[in-house]
Amino acid sequence: MSRAEALIDLSALESNVRHLLSISKGKGLAVVKADAYGHGLIPVAQRAVAAGASWLGTALLEESLKLRESGIQVPILAWLTPLQDDFESALKKKIDLALPSLDHLAAIEKAAARTSITPRIHLEVDTGMTRGGALSEWRALLNSVSESVKKGKVEVIGIWSHFARADEPGHPFNEEQLSNFKFRVKEAEELGIRPEILHLSNSAATLIDPKSHFDLVRMGIAMYGLSPDVENLGDSTKLGIQPVMSLRARLQLVKEVPAGAQVGYGGTAITSAATKVGVVAMGYADGVPRNADSRAGVRVGNRKAPILGRVSMDQFVVDLGNDSIARTGDWAYLIGSEGGDGYTADAWGRACGTINYEIVTRIGPRVPLVHIN
Ligand SMILES: *Cc1c(COP(=O)(O)O)cnc(C)c1O
Repeated sequence: MSRAEALIDLSALESNVRHLLSISKGKGLAVVKADAYGHGLIPVAQRAVAAGASWLGTALLEESLKLRESGIQVPILAWLTPLQDDFESALKKKIDLALPSLDHLAAIEKAAARTSITPRIHLEVDTGMTRGGALSEWRALLNSVSESVKKGKVEVIGIWSHFARADEPGHPFNEEQLSNFKFRVKEAEELGIRPEILHLSNSAATLIDPKSHFDLVRMGIAMYGLSPDVENLGDSTKLGIQPVMSLRARLQLVKEVPAGAQVGYGGTAITSAATKVGVVAMGYADGVPRNADSRAGVRVGNRKAPILGRVSMDQFVVDLGNDSIARTGDWAYLIGSEGGDGYTADAWGRACGTINYEIVTRIGPRVPLVHIN
């Protein structure tokens, strides 16, 4: 039996995928980067495909190759591929590649020459996020690509870009990026580049901005049942999705402590009354942020028990309450619960000055994933 584990409810994942596809005007690409946001690459990818996702996407090429090795056949796109990446393997395994620069074009064409396989590329344009994609180089990139297309050296499958502020409904910057995207697509078309697939939307745009859906939406955080932005868009319930991950660890110890006890390194918390504390067998080495405050905690003994003091490397202390029924050895749920209302990844995000995305993706390799349903 594990001391800690993350339970991954694949039927919740399936229902989230179906919901997102039902509101999308295009097809769906399941984003499974970062070990499927910490939920387990292969089981999540397989279930997302079974639920109707027609594409898969990862940041790293290594992740895309793992998907192919597992026998998955649907189209796969990798979009964070430094020049030194193994493009030959990408071509052999039919992984589509994002194309953000002329340097990438050269590297990919070199691999193509060696393998005699025509690369399937997705032109990546920077429409305002100033992160990935071609910006000042865009016209030059189009010119080179159109030459390569004519020579049969590459096949342009898609043109795509990424939103910076899709989680801010009605923000004018989204309109700006959208119209910029359309303009860039038109420039490509003028050079005879006509990809089958345009894609721009992440989860937030999939949920609230149908005019940005085009042919394919890239479903990330919402597929895992989490809100792209709790403040602006509301929580999972409001968005009609269900959190896929619960996270639990054993209570290493339950004990009574008097009022005035200082708790943990630095004594940053002091008990205000006599109480019972629980020692939870999970810490920052497992991805529980050290700076989590008492807005987070665990559900155990049919109630919520907030964090007391600082999170340590392998453990942290919670205030169970004087009359708690929790016992040494019980499961303490950091995220979710066996029934009642527990802490959410959103609550942990607030308690740690971060977002739910970071909470679920940073859970460490010592915590096994258990796929259920
Ligand atoms: C991570 C990512 C997504 C998904 O974003 P969410 O906000 O999780 O929906 C989509 N597209 C790209 C390029 C990404 O890197």
